[in-house]
Amino acid sequence: MKRIAIIGGGISGLAAAFAIEGQRRAGADVEYVLYESSSQLGGVLCTEYIDGCVVEAGPDSFVTEKPWAADLCRELGLGDQLIGSNDADRKTYILTRGRLVVMPDGLMFMVPTKILPTGLSPLFSWKTKLRMAQELFHPPRAVDHDESVAAFVERHYGTEMVDRLADPLLSGVYGGEAANLSVRAVLPRFAEMERTHGSLGRAMLAARRKMASGPRRAAPPLFTSLKNGMQHLAETVVSRLTPASLLTNAKVEAIQAEAGGWVVSAGLQSDQFDGVIVALPALAAAHVLRMVSPELSAELAAVRYSSSITVGLGYDREVRQTLPPGFGFLVPRSEGRQLLAATFVHNKFPHRAPEDRALLRCFFAGANAENVWALADDQIIGIVRNELQQIVGLRAEPLFARVYRWKSAMAQYGVGHLERLDRVERLRQKLPGLALAGNGYRGIGVPDCVRSGRDAAKQLVEK
Ligand SMILES: Cc1cc2nc3c(=O)[nH]c(=O)nc-3n(C[C@H](O)[C@H](O)[C@H](O)COP(=O)(O)OP(=O)(O)OC[C@H]3O[C@@H](n4cnc5c(N)ncnc54)[C@H](O)[C@@H]3O)c2cc1C
Repeated sequence: MKRIAIIGGGISGLAAAFAIEGQRRAGADVEYVLYESSSQLGGVLCTEYIDGCVVEAGPDSFVTEKPWAADLCRELGLGDQLIGSNDADRKTYILTRGRLVVMPDGLMFMVPTKILPTGLSPLFSWKTKLRMAQELFHPPRAVDHDESVAAFVERHYGTEMVDRLADPLLSGVYGGEAANLSVRAVLPRFAEMERTHGSLGRAMLAARRKMASGPRRAAPPLFTSLKNGMQHLAETVVSRLTPASLLTNAKVEAIQAEAGGWVVSAGLQSDQFDGVIVALPALAAAHVLRMVSPELSAELAAVRYSSSITVGLGYDREVRQTLPPGFGFLVPRSEGRQLLAATFVHNKFPHRAPEDRALLRCFFAGANAENVWALADDQIIGIVRNELQQIVGLRAEPLFARVYRWKSAMAQYGVGHLERLDRVERLRQKLPGLALAGNGYRGIGVPDCVRSGRDAAKQLVEK
């Protein structure tokens, strides 16, 4: 019987366990033990139900375009629980010199595809609008090295575009700054567009024309979530696993390669396995792998992580009626606020708040999260309320407020990340029976984590 250890009970580890469980039930001679250091499985997938609202402490959804999380939901029988974002009401504001300015229609990430709305938008200066027009004439460009997203965007549209859009959009996903993120790892499609078309604007328009000439299909919602929240996904996976295989409050201190197999040590217990899936954030993976391969451990430790804080706030009907329409707002760092973003959850998704409630999700990350990390929850709520008052004029007392802190949970793929992954893969191949999964490698979002866990299981079971 092949024995596999899975270290980490977040969605990456759970997806790996679910895949092995499937193989086991299909007759494969395999068993697994999943080690989770905390008392709860699911990692950052964590949902609270407060006053009729579904409050997400960690991720609130996943991008629909990446299929792996929704596929897993369907495999689990949760297909009828999937909900899409209310894209008809989609509107995102950018705080610009203290005022909320709506992102113009036709902007794909930072690439304008409709001239009029962008041309008339107060979001950009005339200088940036001129750069957008000039960008359409950029010739194809083969770049042989990685660079930061900030440098890439600046080359196409100038620094204002980095400050107003690229940086705020990315800090909501990676908790990091555009100046520190790798364009090849974070925006591979854009890097490819530059190589083939030169101009991102022209590449985007060509892609749209191609789509328009194909069969007409209703556009899927941008984001997908679960009616009862993201934790429901983790709980449903857990319900399909073998209970005796799941060890909580079991922090793995180290793993070691021994006699063609692996020894996993958690507390005073050690156990032997044929294979190990390390499904941890890269920083934690570096720690447990330090004795197996100091080189691999050093590469993993170099993947940077940032901390984040989400604050969920519930309000009454009156607030719901007075808040601006749309999904919420982003705050460029140049505005000098602590908050990076706020989502009007009641508008973004159905089933998140009763009709007579407004639900807000506010977000701090990176340096902004570190600045307030040591403060008590009440003080953080105070900062959020003060900024909401200044930005959207919200003075009302919330009906409830919760603060959720996530220490070093969001990977930031720095410049050279893909080259680092090549070195990691070469080092890993020297260690048969070891597989890596999680958000430190090829995608930080829930769908990529699900894929990474499933692939890691496949790699070890089929070997
Ligand atoms: C605030 C926030 C908002 C996000 N929003 C979104 C979003 O809207 N959409 C989206 O797609 N993605 C989002 N993400 C990213 C995504 O949720 C995560 O990247 C993904 O869920 C990570 O899953 P994981 O299993 O790899 O890691 P984790 O969820 O971090 O799980 C790792 C697990 O390993 C355990 N562990 C750590 N060390 C040990 C050890 N030594 N031994 C045993 N167990 C250990 C931890 O306790 C934890 O449970 C968000 C992330 C955060 C933090």
